[in-house]
Amino acid sequence: MSTIAFIGLGNMGGPMAANLVKAGHRVVGVDVTQAAIDRHVAAGGVKGASIAEAVAEADVVVTMLPSGREVNALYLAESGIVPKVKPGALLIDSSTIDVDTARAVAKAAAAKGLAMLDAPVSGGTGGATAGTLTFMCGGEDATFARAKPYLDAMGKTIVHAGGPGNGQAAKICNNMILGITMIATSEAFVLAEKLGLDAQKLFDIASKSSGQSWSLTTYCPVPGPVPTSPANRDYQPGFTAAMMLKDLKLAQDAARSAGAVTPMGAEAASLYGLYAAQGEAGTDFSGIVNFLRGR
Ligand code: NAD
Repeated sequence: MSTIAFIGLGNMGGPMAANLVKAGHRVVGVDVTQAAIDRHVAAGGVKGASIAEAVAEADVVVTMLPSGREVNALYLAESGIVPKVKPGALLIDSSTIDVDTARAVAKAAAAKGLAMLDAPVSGGTGGATAGTLTFMCGGEDATFARAKPYLDAMGKTIVHAGGPGNGQAAKICNNMILGITMIATSEAFVLAEKLGLDAQKLFDIASKSSGQSWSLTTYCPVPGPVPTSPANRDYQPGFTAAMMLKDLKLAQDAARSAGAVTPMGAEAASLYGLYAAQGEAGTDFSGIVNFLRGR
């Protein structure tokens, strides 16, 4: 059993921390929201007095925060994680953030002799609750090996993607594919409608042909062919357009920083920006099919 400081007990962090409690760890939770702390305590966790106090007694620190801004601030502030953590503790950041911040924070941790892993996830709140998340990890081999038993308690597929920042790189590359294929799939269904081709027929053919993708076969953007997709519940998320937009912007930031040419990713970011700006930020990202219909 380890003492784990878990910072950021939101929609994802809350159930992830609960799974660490179930695995037998003492999980000291910190959040700025009282309701999140109450849920953590109800799930068997312990309330941390502050970040500095929680990390000072922790063998492992896990963070699940909204963006790179919070990660940078909470790790590097004077009373933050890197200055206050117990020597030798393991640091795991599971937030989805920009690659540059992930690498900068890992470097600051390494300068203090601390092992750090970036370990963003996919699988959503359902996967967080069920303990079936996919973790994409960036860090040294030994750091990955130390982190793996803790990640196993929260996820099903744990992949080591390379050195520091490579977990974030994998996450944003994957989600750039997802955003682009969702738009492409939606465009095809809209075109099919105009051509008088039944949506189910297009699905039956494309799902067995070269147009096949996860966006089509698991998350079909029109109601009917995949009963579990958000299209069948009026595009209730799921994965919101705001989250997709965040990840596409991170991909564009990374492409600019690395000098990669990603015109389709740029177009996807701008289409999701327009869709979100129409008051649809909280709608499932597959609802972009209605935007393409002009609704
Ligand atoms: P969330 O907003 O529900 O949770 C973030 C939590 O961090 C909140 O409870 C907030 O109060 C807390 N927080 C913010 N600033 C803090 C501070 N200074 N000190 C302590 N706590 C602080 O977000 P979420 O949906 O849980 O997502 C967390 C991360 O996971 C994001 O980076 C997101 O992109 C990523 N992610 C989310 C999903 C999803 O489906 N929700 C899926 C994959 C990845």
